[in-house]
Amino acid sequence: MLEALKSEVWQANLALPKHGLVTLTWGNVSAVDATREWMVIKPSGVAYEELKPEDMVVLRISDGVVVEGSLRPSSDTPAHLVLYRAFGEIKGVVHTHSTWATIWAQAGQAIPVMGTTHADFAGGPIPCTRDLRREEVQEAFEANTGKTIVETFAAGEYKVVPAVLVRGHGPFCWGSGAMGAVHHAIMLEEVAKMAYYTQMLNPKAKLNPHVAGRHFSRKHGPQAYYGQT
Ligand SMILES: [Zn+2]
Repeated sequence: MLEALKSEVWQANLALPKHGLVTLTWGNVSAVDATREWMVIKPSGVAYEELKPEDMVVLRISDGVVVEGSLRPSSDTPAHLVLYRAFGEIKGVVHTHSTWATIWAQAGQAIPVMGTTHADFAGGPIPCTRDLRREEVQEAFEANTGKTIVETFAAGEYKVVPAVLVRGHGPFCWGSGAMGAVHHAIMLEEVAKMAYYTQMLNPKAKLNPHVAGRHFSRKHGPQAYYGQT
């Protein structure tokens, strides 16, 4: 089932090492089908160069049951499921430990909007989640990771800020499909790197909100005019 979606998710997973976003097997991409009934995700711990489209695992989103695939799904699967259930418009999710975004996650700091590169991609700072409590780590750790992401966002805010930093861990990004989410992961990594150096040079640096708002709205929403129609 879902052969085209499996191929898309497989290609999106291969794009992670290609863009320098993962070391070893520390990253995963998933996507949902048009009905939002099924999720396709990378199997757990398989080297990227050995991955095949048919290795992708299909799960039912409502209860997380594996319905197709002989390999175990990514260990982060429960977090992906929580995001698809809570954020009703996302169709792809990426998790990596990409270096620059992970540096901010480990510092426990949101990435402020310091330039138009950031504003083109997100309509506000990239937030950092709260710490998980002891009991949230002991049981259902990955699902609780997903829950702290959901509670970090005000209602509907995920539509304008397509990424988050999980405290002490790394980024999750989402988008309109598997490749859309990977695209956001690439942008986040670049923005995280620029923000780090900008803050080193000038700790008070920030982009004027009116410029930030204009940059976001010219690429997103009803007034968008960037690119070709
Ligand atoms: Zn991780």
